[in-house]
This record gives sequence, structure tokens and C-alpha cells, in this order.
Amino acid sequence: MMDRNRIMEVVTAALPDGHGLIPLPRLNVSTPGGMGFQKVYFGARCGCGTSAVLSVEVASDKTEGDLERAMPALLDRLMRQRDHFKQMSCKAHERLRSAQFK
Ligand SMILES: [Zn+2]
Repeated sequence: MMDRNRIMEVVTAALPDGHGLIPLPRLNVSTPGGMGFQKVYFGARCGCGTSAVLSVEVASDKTEGDLERAMPALLDRLMRQRDHFKQMSCKAHERLRSAQFK
């Protein structure tokens, strides 16, 4: 089982140029029944001040070699999460923010 810090390192190193994401190594949200997966988190930020937390999930039984092999698909999912956030209008971001702080 890989260390979360190592997962973060490997994923961060593989991110494409200009990815615009902020690694959040200290964020550790326990997921229900979550022993099967390890999650690392990245922040995305919009010019309007709204930020979103994106996550990467790695099955606990994966080795570093497995992670390297799964990287293209994993980065694809992460970039899609980011693009989804970036493509939302800032009006939608506002709604997201007010929903978060209710
Ligand atoms: Zn915005």
C-alpha cells in the first residue's frame, strides 16, 4: 500500500504544464467504508474567488508501478473535474459558494 504523500508526489509530478491545480497534501477526508481507497486532493480556483476541491482515488492494493500505468486515465479524470469547474459560469460558482456555507 502506497503512502498518501507518495501518491501525491507521483501524481503532482505527472500533472501537465499549466494545470493550475494546488496540491492539498494535508487535506484528508475519511470516506465512508473508505479503507479500500486512498484519496489525495487538489484545489482549483476561479478568478471570482470560488475554489473547488478535486480528488484522485487510488485503490489501496495498488503499487507505484500500477499507479504509473493508471496515470493517463487518472489525470484525464482529474483534468475533466477541473475543466467542469472552470467551465461553470461565475454565477454558478456563486451558488456553489453559498451552498457550501449554509
Ligand atoms: Zn468563477
